Order: sequence, then structure tokens, then C-alpha cells
Amino acid sequence: METLELAHITVRGIVQGVGFRPFVYGLAIQRGLKGWVYNTSEDVKIEVEGEAQTIEQFCHELEAKAPPLARIEELSVAHDPPAGYTAFEIRHSVAEEGKYQLISPDIATCKDCLNELLDPSDRRYRYPFTNCTNCGPRFTIIEDMPYDRTKTTMRDFTMCPECQEEYDNPLDRRFHAQPNACPVCGPQVQLLDSQGNSVTVSNSYLDALASAAQLLKEGNILAIKGVGDSF
Ligand SMILES: [Zn+2]
Ligand SMILES: [Zn+2]
Repeated sequence: METLELAHITVRGIVQGVGFRPFVYGLAIQRGLKGWVYNTSEDVKIEVEGEAQTIEQFCHELEAKAPPLARIEELSVAHDPPAGYTAFEIRHSVAEEGKYQLISPDIATCKDCLNELLDPSDRRYRYPFTNCTNCGPRFTIIEDMPYDRTKTTMRDFTMCPECQEEYDNPLDRRFHAQPNACPVCGPQVQLLDSQGNSVTVSNSYLDALASAAQLLKEGNILAIKGVGDSF
């Protein structure tokens, strides 16, 4: 039996809000490594315990297979005595005063989300705030790091059971997607007049968007409030 080793890995760059923790989690589970990953205000910290060769492959894949939106600027590895971990887990983020890191820009809706958006049988059919780990608002909604829902303008929207299930499922593409939302639990679109009164008959977002488009075509001026403003 080979002896266990433990690697303490620090990753800096655009590594939060891009599906990095779920990616690390998946990679560790696949390789049977134990340990943890968490976000801090300035980086992502990882500890993995396992056979030396497996750890080496893991470190290689961290860079080689990183999610499309991630940009690793620096990856350092230190070796410590094994700690006897029994599982791999995503731990709570740690905020550090005065530390900072690069923040992901907002990312246009990805192909998978577009497919859902245009599928009449999907629960997010035509829902304008559809997003996932690979797309959606980031810079706009982030108020502080580490990147967690409580530090974004999405904090006021409690996920419905279905969204929560996606968020908690390591195999789901919305695993730990902080802005996860749907028509049941997420932000809604409203069209208001200059007095703040709703000008659409129904409260459907389709109605609001269609009316807004019509008003623009008629030469009216509209102000648009984004998801980054406090609600
Ligand atoms: Zn997406
Ligand atoms: Zn929901």
C-alpha cells in the first residue's frame, strides 16, 4: 500500500464565480482524493490527501481542465503531513479584511441556458434571469468577496426547493451557482410609469418586456434597473 501524502494548494486569479469549487470537488471525487476546498477573500484554498501520483495528476488537471471562465494566475503547492480526512467537502468561505482578488465579469447566457429559455416545457421557459455556473451576472451583483450568495444582491431571494436542489447537487450544472433563480423564486420584471405604477395588465414578465419594446418603438424613453441594484 502506498503512503498517503497531503498537498496544500493555493490558487489565485479569476477563480470565484466561475464554477471553480464545483470543478475542484468533481476532480477530487473522481480521483478518490479526500480533503476540502474553500474560497477566501483573495484566493481559493484546497487540501487533498491521497497517493502522491494521484495528487500530482490532480494538480495538473486543476490547470489543464479548469472551467472555461476561470483564469489561473498563480497556483502554489505545499506538502504537509497527512491529516486523515475521510471525505472531500466544500467548506464555508473565509472573509479576510483588506484582501482582494480578480472578479469575473458578467457572462452572456450560455448555450445550455438558452436551450432551457426557449423550451416551452422547461420550468425556466422565457425566464429572463436564467443562469448557471458558466454564465450569468457576476460583477454586477457582487458586493464583496469571497463570492457567496449572501455577498451578492441575490441574497434577498430565497431559492425554492427545486433551485436549492440544483444548487446542492454536485452533478448539476447549477451546483453552487450563486445567482441561481427561476420564475418561482427569483427576480421579476416589472414595467412602471414615472409615478411608479405598474403599467402592464398582468404581472407576466413577457407582458412587461413586450410593452417596454413597444414603448421604445414609439419613441418613449425608458430607464432600466438591473439585477445589481438593491431590490
Ligand atoms: Zn448557463
Ligand atoms: Zn427557484
